[in-house]
Amino acid sequence: MLMLTPILAMASMAMPLLEAQKQSKQTIVLILLGPPGAGKGTQAGMLADTLQLPHISTGDLLRSNIKRGTELGKTAKGYMELGKLVPDDLILAMLFARVSQEDCHRGYILDGFPRTLAQAKAYHQRLGSETKTITLNLALSNEVIIDRLTKRMICKECSTPYHLTFSPPKKEGVCNECNGSLIQRGDDKEEVIQKRLTVYQTQTAPLIQYYSDEKSLKEVSCNQPIDKVLNEILDYLREIYRSLKEE
Ligand SMILES: [Zn+2]
Repeated sequence: MLMLTPILAMASMAMPLLEAQKQSKQTIVLILLGPPGAGKGTQAGMLADTLQLPHISTGDLLRSNIKRGTELGKTAKGYMELGKLVPDDLILAMLFARVSQEDCHRGYILDGFPRTLAQAKAYHQRLGSETKTITLNLALSNEVIIDRLTKRMICKECSTPYHLTFSPPKKEGVCNECNGSLIQRGDDKEEVIQKRLTVYQTQTAPLIQYYSDEKSLKEVSCNQPIDKVLNEILDYLREIYRSLKEE
């Protein structure tokens, strides 16, 4: 046992969790809240792999409905063409159409939903009682978010992404793949990020309050390496599954 490499140790720890996940009679819904830059999508993807649950992003769901030309997709497209926001009931209809599919029976991981208190309330009203919701708040200070996001670069020619701290190019300002020059996206400029964070905080503060009051909310600091964040989440899930078993 002492000879296990960290990766093997992690995989062996994930096994009982996966077993517990599979044996659970309840549908497990994992909700990930967190500001832009906290790594929600990354964590959702890794959790989906570890727990073998579908990773559902409402953004992807909307794009796929539009692409497939479903009735819901056509209606959503109509709003978007008028420059309007797609209404919550339409997003919810797409979401429930998706999560009623066979592969979501054991559970699923939500990424990018709910964004507002109204969405959360409408969603939980429609959920069955056999569903167990676990909410994770991926927390990161504004300073760290701005530092992380302003260091993202992208190749002007081939769109390969870089990060000056986490995945820097071999030669400063030059793409490893095509020698194109690296630029910062408009979205990643500090003043734009500040605005996104203000919007996020205005919308999400009541949501975090709602989950702390109504359902268990676990805060996880994202100011640590990605694998440490994942391990902290998995440890928490292990506790939850244990308590579900005892119920
Ligand atoms: Zn390139």
